[in-house]
Amino acid sequence: MSQLPIVALVPTGGTIGARGRDRLDLAFYGELDQQHAMEELLEVIPEVRAVARVRPVPFRSAASHALQVEDVLRLARRVVQLVADPSVDGVVVTHGTNTLEETAFVLALVLSTDKPVVLTGSMRPASGLSSDSPINLFNAIRLAAAPGASGRGVLVLMDDTVHSARDVTKASTARLDAFRGAELGPLGFIEPDGSVLFHHRREPWPAEGAFSVSGLAALPRVDVVMSYLGADASLIDASVRAGAAGIVSAGTGAGFPTPAEQAALEAAADGGVVVVQASRTGSGRVGVSPAVMARGIVSAGNLAPVKARLLLMLVLTRTHDPRRVAEYFGCA
Ligand code: ASP
Repeated sequence: MSQLPIVALVPTGGTIGARGRDRLDLAFYGELDQQHAMEELLEVIPEVRAVARVRPVPFRSAASHALQVEDVLRLARRVVQLVADPSVDGVVVTHGTNTLEETAFVLALVLSTDKPVVLTGSMRPASGLSSDSPINLFNAIRLAAAPGASGRGVLVLMDDTVHSARDVTKASTARLDAFRGAELGPLGFIEPDGSVLFHHRREPWPAEGAFSVSGLAALPRVDVVMSYLGADASLIDASVRAGAAGIVSAGTGAGFPTPAEQAALEAAADGGVVVVQASRTGSGRVGVSPAVMARGIVSAGNLAPVKARLLLMLVLTRTHDPRRVAEYFGCA
């Protein structure tokens, strides 16, 4: 028993701990703003005692769509401390699912550790009928305690499926399998017999673990502007007026803003705003032609617009040179 791995458990709020009005309150429980204590969530999964020694670590609880980037930086600093603690073998962060992929991605950008760091949430509140909260929490702890999970980067565990923080996205509003690895798929699964099986090892990527959160209290403003049929320049101009240091354009198809947006993005780039071109499609890579690159516009590669935004925020603490920015995106 004393040989079991120690898993630090950091609750940050969200559906996985939420208490609804009754067992069928599966949609509007957030209005109550009530959370079960972590001890209560652990009480219903006593099986955890056979896989890990859990060390709860208090943290601010909030719906994930209410979090600020500063909250995520504070969480990142906490996780950095936890993985540096030699007595901790793995870390689980419970999180609202709405922005879980963004927090997971920030952690992947700032953590350099082989210890498993796993984020999980649930699609049905802890108090709901057939909630996925207990099994997801249990499986996340099981994953963080699994020797095979070491050295695989920051992981997201939802619905028995292990995803990489870089590629995972919430792709459905309500389904239990809402989290998908887009075209790259999941890294592995937790099988019904308890096996933790990885089917893919992620290639290292240039920005992984490239940043330090110590001393970073706030990040430069970066906005995402989504393109659509007939979009004019007004949202891009508003972003520049609001003081954005960077803009991510979520273009149509393979990364095409409208002509009016393209002209506004080029003007913004001329004025020193760093512009990254992503796609609104939800999967696939954006190629930026040499002519567009020469205007200072950088490709997001296959990063989702919200993740390209977070990476750009961190990169802008180091450089505004589009060629160097492109290196962090793996698109130089
Ligand atoms: N519905 C969300 C969740 O799954 C709420 C949030 O993101 O906090 O947790």
